[in-house]
Amino acid sequence: MKAFVMKEIGRVGFTHKPVPQPGPNDAIVRTSRALICTSDSHTVGGGIGPRHDLTLGHEAVGVVAEVGSEVREFRPGDRVVVGAITPDWGDPASQAGHSSQSGGPLGGWKFSNTKDGVFAEYFHVNEADANMARIPDDVSDDAAVYCADMLSTGFMGAEHGDIPIGGTVAVLAQGPVGLMGTAGAKLRGAGLIIGVDAVPTRLKLAQTYGADEIVDFTREDVVERIEELTGGEGVDTAIEALGADATFQIAVRITKPGGTVSTIGYYGTGEYVHIPRVPWGVGMAEKTIATGLCPGGRLRLERLLRMLSAKRLDPTLMTTHIFAFDEMEQAFEVADKKLDDVVKVLVTF
Ligand SMILES: [Zn+2]
Repeated sequence: MKAFVMKEIGRVGFTHKPVPQPGPNDAIVRTSRALICTSDSHTVGGGIGPRHDLTLGHEAVGVVAEVGSEVREFRPGDRVVVGAITPDWGDPASQAGHSSQSGGPLGGWKFSNTKDGVFAEYFHVNEADANMARIPDDVSDDAAVYCADMLSTGFMGAEHGDIPIGGTVAVLAQGPVGLMGTAGAKLRGAGLIIGVDAVPTRLKLAQTYGADEIVDFTREDVVERIEELTGGEGVDTAIEALGADATFQIAVRITKPGGTVSTIGYYGTGEYVHIPRVPWGVGMAEKTIATGLCPGGRLRLERLLRMLSAKRLDPTLMTTHIFAFDEMEQAFEVADKKLDDVVKVLVTF
């Protein structure tokens, strides 16, 4: 089968690989839609170290081609979405409620990290009963594919942010994950949502997904403007959706004492992330810093799909570019170099 791989740090391209085989608890899925993620760029850039001919991609939907002998919930022909994170559910970390960290730090992240990803004609799913979900008839593949990572991670930002109903929220960066953080804040009942970015298409989408105010960081001082919008108090929750030291520091500054900084970014460069000492109340302002990696699992995916069935939001508005799998090299370049005001690139198989 054809697969799109990271050949080495900084180099991608097509290769051929055998179709994977399922173990007793696993499934093989024939890919129908996939999304390119900024994490794929971080990986190719060397963010998690060298890899050789590793199939990229972790956001996909498809049709079950084959299941192992112990799989009970799925049959060949089922239309499914698979989580970007596919935990080992028997691991003590999962039993403690931290399934994304099963098997070690970030251990639930297997696709395009410790095993081949989804940018291929077929891909392998470990613990299929627990790590994928059947897509309801009224939800399209084009929408369901957003459940794999974007909805799960973005909503996690709002969930970990412990947003009070009527509370104030700032979402720093309105890329696809930040946009779903904004949508999550709205769904959690925030009373004021401030979206921060500089790209006009992203700011417009932020308003569509629930931002009441937008702040363009190239035109105004983010900290000053958010203080102004919150009567000098700062926000209850700052969702840091970029993954950069400077943005993290802003998040700590704009969060009021007792509030929460919820980070959902991938801090891909630099040795340290810095906490500004005085805005942190010299360590005593009761500002919680919450972190997380995209929650996986069938229950999670089914809940996200329910939001799409119920038309609570339309993630396909984020699809700015569509390419066929054969055009993957061009598709990856658009996503990687953020060309043409790209938000999300959908790949069809
Ligand atoms: Zn992703």
